[in-house]
Formats: sequence, C-alpha cells, structure tokens
Amino acid sequence: MASSAHTDVITDHDHAQCVADAVARVEQHCAARGLRLTPLRRNVMRSLAESHVPLGAYEITERLARRGEKAPPMSVYRALDFLVAEGLAHRIESRNAYLACGSPHDAGEVVVFLICEQCGLTREMASHAVGRDLAWAARSAGFEPRQRVLEIGGTCAACRAKAQGLADAGQDTAGHAPG
Ligand SMILES: [Zn+2]
Ligand SMILES: [Zn+2]
Ligand SMILES: [Zn+2]
Repeated sequence: MASSAHTDVITDHDHAQCVADAVARVEQHCAARGLRLTPLRRNVMRSLAESHVPLGAYEITERLARRGEKAPPMSVYRALDFLVAEGLAHRIESRNAYLACGSPHDAGEVVVFLICEQCGLTREMASHAVGRDLAWAARSAGFEPRQRVLEIGGTCAACRAKAQGLADAGQDTAGHAPG
C-alpha cells in the first residue's frame, strides 16, 4: 500500500474538537473586530483546520466543491488572504500552501513550522526564546527582519516510527514483504 502524500489521519488528538475550535476561533475573532465572516471564509478556515498538512488554494477549492460548496479559485485566494492577514492562518512559503493557525501569537514570538518531508504533516510552535535569539542575531548583523517565521523540514514522529517499524520487520521476519 502506497502511503498518501496527503494523509489526513490524525490519531494523537481529538481532531473533531480541533476543527471545531479553529472555526470557533475565527467566529470569535471576526465578531470581536466587527469583521464579516462570509460563509466562504468560514468554509475555507474549516477546510484548512481539517488538514494538518498545508493545503494549496486549488486543493481547498476542490475540497469545497466535493462538499457542494463551489467557489471560484480567486474567491478562495481572497478568503485565504483575509485569514492570513487576520493571523488566523499561515502561508507556508516553501510549499506554497496554507495552514490554520493553532493559536494566537505574541509580538516577540517566532513561529516555527516543523514540516514532515514524508507525509507533509506540519506542526506549529511559537517560541519567545527563538524570537529573542533571532532578534539578537539579526540586530548584530544590522538586519531588520520582516518575517518572524521559520520553516524546518524533517521527519515527523509518525513517519519515524513507521520507518523504524519497517526496518525492524525487515530484520525480524524474513520473507515478510513490507506494505
Ligand atoms: Zn487536529
Ligand atoms: Zn499561528
Ligand atoms: Zn510524517
């Protein structure tokens, strides 16, 4: 069985709750600021929150269409721009894709994305310590950072466990072909 590059199987947390929380966060954010939460903006946020793998605008458009929520890609782009501008979603530059924001950030924090190069799973962490060190390093170089985001490629815990399992199976059971 070939592993999908875009797995949505999330087993380490209550993912339904995670999606509900993300949608609730957008609702509260817009209500508090008097911003209009159109059905499309809400649906785009829900689609983003459903996947812990960053999604491209066309993937989102397709996902919406499958649910009978047809929207032109340009409108989806505009909804994404809105969510990013409001800090509710992030653009992952290295993948030209988007991710729902896990939590609001403080000004001094740097956002770190741990991106799995096997399955695409992306975890978001915010760190004051990294922000402090980076601000210091930038200042000593006379550099004024525009972005406060780090994208780090690697292998996620699940993919590492899977690779380890395959390696073990290869050692222990001769003749047992892996997936
Ligand atoms: Zn989740
Ligand atoms: Zn975030
Ligand atoms: Zn992975």
